[in-house]
Amino acid sequence: MKSLNFLTKSRGNNRQFAVIGLGRFGRAVCTSLHKMGYEVLGTDIDEKLVTQVLAQKVASHAIQLDSTEPESLKEAGIFEMDTVIVAIGNYLQESIITTLNVKEAGVEQVIAKASSEIHGKVLRRVGADRVVFPEHEAGCALASTLTQPGFLERFELDTENSIVEILVPEAFHGQTLSQLDLRKRFGLNVLAIGNGDKFITNPSPGQVLKKGLIMVVIGSNKNLQRLPI
Ligand code: ATP
Repeated sequence: MKSLNFLTKSRGNNRQFAVIGLGRFGRAVCTSLHKMGYEVLGTDIDEKLVTQVLAQKVASHAIQLDSTEPESLKEAGIFEMDTVIVAIGNYLQESIITTLNVKEAGVEQVIAKASSEIHGKVLRRVGADRVVFPEHEAGCALASTLTQPGFLERFELDTENSIVEILVPEAFHGQTLSQLDLRKRFGLNVLAIGNGDKFITNPSPGQVLKKGLIMVVIGSNKNLQRLPI
């Protein structure tokens, strides 16, 4: 197998990622990181998927290997990466052994995809720094946008608090943040205002709100629901 150690020698300040498992989730992670300009190494046991990723240029590098074999991971330079994403959801044994391998070898940040709660628990036990449940998370996000169509995006901080993106409500048009006094009236804070392409973070109290602009607001779910959207 071709060694990819050259990758790790030329790292500089740039963060490097490896994605193990090139199913739909793994490929999506590769594509997004690659588009953002990061070095991404994609790997899969299936040669066809590796060839596909190379042909579609969705990762900087791709290599075929069995991630349950620590030697193969080492040779590919995966232990030198800053962040490794274990994107194997359905093969429990492989997912657990792979997570254990990369964590035992000292990779600082390991994110693993789980297909069930118990799978997630085991992944945490073997050292995963973060466990994601993509299907569950996508389902919750969909339900939230269906029931609260005024929220363009929602990031749940915990079960009671969120950060949401909303279109400036009609009732807020033409008013400054200090006139609106959302903190006092709604218990909410405005983190940013923008037009979708560009945002001003920490907007000043004199910032005027206009219809069509987007506000990023933080607060309790209860208070967010009181917004006139
Ligand atoms: P999704 O498409 O939802 O991301 P999937 O069903 O395509 O998931 P999984 O079953 O979660 O895929 O597996 C993801 C990838 O992991 C597959 O392409 C599979 O070939 C790869 N894989 C499985 N075992 C290993 C292994 N030991 N080493 C490397 N890759 C593996």
